[in-house]
Amino acid sequence: MNRVYKTLLIPFLAVILFSQISCNNQSTETTDAETSGSDLAVSDHFDPKGKGPSKHTLAIWENWKKTLPFEDKRDFEEAQKGFIAAPDFRQIKNAEGRVIWDIGRYDFLLNEQDHQTIHPSLQRIATLNMGYGLYKVSDGIYQVRGFDLSNMTLVEGKTGWILIDVLTTKETSAAALKFANEQLGERPVRAVIYSHTHADHFGGIRGVVNEEDVIAGKVKIIAPEGFMNFAVSENVIAGNAMNRRLFYQYGVLLPVSPYGHVDQALAKNVSSGTLGLIAPTISISKPVEELVVDGLRMIFHNTPNTEAPVEMNTYIPEKKALWMAENVTATIHNIYTLRGALVRDALTWSKKISESLYMFGEEADVMFASHHWPRWGNERVQEVLRTQRDAYGHIHNTVLNLANQGVTVNEVHNVYEVPASLQKQWSARSYHGSVEHNSRAIINRYLGYWDANPLTLIPMAERESAPLFVEMMGGAGPIIEKGKELFEEGKYKHAGELLNKLVFAEPQNQEAKDLLADCYEQIGYQQESTSVRNSFLAGAYELRNGIPGGEMPKSVTPDIIRAMSTETWLDFLGVKLNSKKAEGINFKMNIITPDNNEKFLVELSNSTLSNLKGFTAKNADLTLTLNRSDLNMAMMGVKSFEDLLKEGKAKVEGNPQILAQLVGMLDEFDPRFEILPGTKKEKYQSPTADGGFDAPAFIED
Ligand SMILES: [Zn+2]
Repeated sequence: MNRVYKTLLIPFLAVILFSQISCNNQSTETTDAETSGSDLAVSDHFDPKGKGPSKHTLAIWENWKKTLPFEDKRDFEEAQKGFIAAPDFRQIKNAEGRVIWDIGRYDFLLNEQDHQTIHPSLQRIATLNMGYGLYKVSDGIYQVRGFDLSNMTLVEGKTGWILIDVLTTKETSAAALKFANEQLGERPVRAVIYSHTHADHFGGIRGVVNEEDVIAGKVKIIAPEGFMNFAVSENVIAGNAMNRRLFYQYGVLLPVSPYGHVDQALAKNVSSGTLGLIAPTISISKPVEELVVDGLRMIFHNTPNTEAPVEMNTYIPEKKALWMAENVTATIHNIYTLRGALVRDALTWSKKISESLYMFGEEADVMFASHHWPRWGNERVQEVLRTQRDAYGHIHNTVLNLANQGVTVNEVHNVYEVPASLQKQWSARSYHGSVEHNSRAIINRYLGYWDANPLTLIPMAERESAPLFVEMMGGAGPIIEKGKELFEEGKYKHAGELLNKLVFAEPQNQEAKDLLADCYEQIGYQQESTSVRNSFLAGAYELRNGIPGGEMPKSVTPDIIRAMSTETWLDFLGVKLNSKKAEGINFKMNIITPDNNEKFLVELSNSTLSNLKGFTAKNADLTLTLNRSDLNMAMMGVKSFEDLLKEGKAKVEGNPQILAQLVGMLDEFDPRFEILPGTKKEKYQSPTADGGFDAPAFIED
């Protein structure tokens, strides 16, 4: 029985735990081949077929350089302000000596050289995100930055530290706390605040507190209501698909290089250490709730359905310090995150920023957040709050204005424009989201994916329709010829339209795939948003070389399994069921877990596995009774069901064969399923010679 739990858990835990082997891909610093500007010299970057920027891409690059407000350098001043010290190391290792964090890979961004393979605005934020070390926010408030995707904030309480967000993994959080204590004097951790449910804000908890101290009440963990539910469940059911899409949005296997991975918008990247989770001990349930935490008055402001399903800002009146969680950072965030998730609510997001502005923002002297750097002075605080409020509000309102005039989900990204006043504000630039995918998301949230053209209601798959297009266009020869012509003219999207048909019609046509990849690459270089850049560059890589190698997840974290509800796990079993194999099979099974007083009725009928919490069937074919704490062991793969039965920890009544039958009907999800035609391989190769990758522990922002 062991297998069932392993096989059904690992694929979605892959999303939660993108834990990985070595992190030895050092920055591929190169002499940029792009300086000539006229032709597409094959560069010496990671991909042997890779090219520098075309003259068209360079023209766009020059235009951005001229028109964006580079004279406004306040972000650079703020990112530097309060700097106390940087550690003498640039790598963090785990207990086995493996490098799980290495900001040094990105040092090519510190040489003050323009990289014309990077949008100038993206290079700006990528450089700002090189901030590394301990910084003072205000009296008694400090941040460690550059140790992970997120910041760790330390607030002086009466007797010790109150930590706000604790990075992604225990290795980086422990290193951050140690470094801060060395610089500021050792203080015990009295409380931890989880601002929201994304793992870069809670995963490092075990590096800064002992669970026994939490249980004993010595350390309080404060989080918004509903935290545990959403911390685990947001990406379980579609986990394998989300995991695969991380290859694109986050470029998780793209080598770090001016031609590849340069930034993650919120910071450099995610650490690849050990992710943990300890449940909160205090839940903030009211819209606004005040607590005294280690002698310090804190006002919590719940902001559900914004950047995360549950999230909260915090105001510290005594210090006039406003913590905006991940609701206000130095980028416009994802309204739709390309890894896949429910579309977020831009209107609520905008309103919650407005609430913060009028509840706290009119008196705050400093505003700080879980990513990027603080803003000082009330005028500046209000400026950034208004800018971001209006950026989310404008895209929401204006996209719906357009939709109400007939603009569709498939057109709006070419029609919607950010107002000029916001375009000139750095904090309204879309590094994480993009204007294009966020504007489409607004329509998708309200109207869904259909553009109301009857033909697109039941579209042919591209694989089915492409051969007809190719035939009508006169075959591969003319398409390649026209594709090259369009490419030379810098019409990469036009070329892409044609070549995409050919690639879908002839998945083994490498010439077509290479030319399409060249288009992707130029489009990627032109993007301000890391999400879109990474997607195009990862796609280019796959078209040229096939789906990349690099180690996939190899471990599951006990904390995450413990935190998962039995219902979520059973829901996922239903997703794993192979409908064809289940045809004609019917059974009812009861699962009873006495220690948490839960029971479930699991029924297979009509090739559908359903589960109902709080019920049992009178005439069940099988009743399985075991404590949830023992079920955890099976879910983790530590013990098999046979072991648990032998040890007397599990009891069965009825026909135990049903369990084996169920296992036999579950699908294995391929973590490297094919997205672009002809990219699936028998054996995967690593994009770098040393084969080392830095697949992060977790990505969920
Ligand atoms: Zn985050």
